[in-house]
Amino acid sequence: MLTVLGFEGSANKIGVGVVRDGVVLANPRRTYVTPPGTGFLPGDTARHHRAVILDLLQEALTEAGITSQDIDCVAFTKGPGMGAPLVSVAIVARTVAQLWNKPLLGVNHCIGHIEMGRLITGATSPTVLYVSGGNTQVIAYSEHRYRIFGETIDIAVGNCLDRFARVLKISNDPSPGYNIEQMAKRGKKLVELPYTVKGMDVSFSGILSFIEDAAQRMLASGECTPEDLCFSLQETVFAMLVEITERAMAHCGSQEALIVGGVGCNIRLQEMMETMCQERGARLFATDERFCIDNGAMIAQAGWEMFRAGHRTPLSDSGVTQRYRTDEVEVTWRD
Ligand code: MG
Repeated sequence: MLTVLGFEGSANKIGVGVVRDGVVLANPRRTYVTPPGTGFLPGDTARHHRAVILDLLQEALTEAGITSQDIDCVAFTKGPGMGAPLVSVAIVARTVAQLWNKPLLGVNHCIGHIEMGRLITGATSPTVLYVSGGNTQVIAYSEHRYRIFGETIDIAVGNCLDRFARVLKISNDPSPGYNIEQMAKRGKKLVELPYTVKGMDVSFSGILSFIEDAAQRMLASGECTPEDLCFSLQETVFAMLVEITERAMAHCGSQEALIVGGVGCNIRLQEMMETMCQERGARLFATDERFCIDNGAMIAQAGWEMFRAGHRTPLSDSGVTQRYRTDEVEVTWRD
C-alpha cells in the first residue's frame, strides 16, 4: 500500500490531493477568481495560495481519513507554471516533507494531467490532447517519453479563451471558459475567424487580435452578438485542435484519444473530438472538471507512479521551474 500526498498550485487553482494505489482519497481545491476584465497576476495568485494552503492540507488529510504517519511520499508541482505560485506551494511541500521525514518528489505538471487521465478513464495508450490556460500540446507515449507531436506556437488555447472573455467583460466565476461555453449555446451566427494550423502546430494569437479589433466593431454595429462570437470562437479553435489530434492519431496508428487539462471539460470540444474518433473507429476518453482542471490528486498520482519506479527528489534539487517540457522527463514507469 502506497499513499502519496500531492500539492498543485502552478496557476490560479490550488489543490491538495491524496492518492492510495489508484484510489483518490481526497482532492480539495480552491480557485483564485479575479473581477471581469482582469486576469490573475503571479504575486496576487501566490498570496491567495499562501492564505489557503494549510487549511486545504488539513481538509485533504481529514477527508482521506489519514494522518501524516500514513503518507509515504510528498509530491509537488515542479513546473511548468507561474513562478511565484509555484514557489509558494513548493515551500509548503518541502517543509512538511522535512517535518514528517518523508521523501519528496518534484512532478512535471503536464505529466500529472496525463497520469490522472489514464487513471480515471482507463485509457491504455492514448494520443493525448492537453489543453489549458497555459498549455496546448498533442502528446503520445513512445520509448519512455511523452513525446510532443504538436503544440501551440504562441499562446495556449485556454489563454485565448480567457483573454477573449476579458475583452467582452465576461465573468471569471467559476471560470471564463465555462461562461463562454454557456453563452456559445445561444450563438446563432458563425463569424469567420483566422484558422491557423501549421502542420502539427496551431496558433491562436491572430484570433485574439481579430477579436480585439474587428469583432469589437462588429459588436458595436450590431452585426453579431457576444453569443455569436463565443460560438464562433469555440467552433474555430476546437476544430483546429481536433485536426492536429487526428493527424497525430493517424501518424501513431492510435485507436484512443484522451483529453486532459482545464479546457478538456468543455462539452462541445468533447463532442467534436467524439465525432472525429467515431469516424476513425477510435475511442474518446475524457474526464469532468474534478480531474481535468488542475488538482492535487493528479500530482499525487504521477508521484505514485514515479515513487514506485524509484524516483526521488533530493532537497538540493527541489527548486521549481517555470519552463519544464513534457518530454524532458524519462517515463521509467511505463513499458
Ligand atoms: Mg494544467
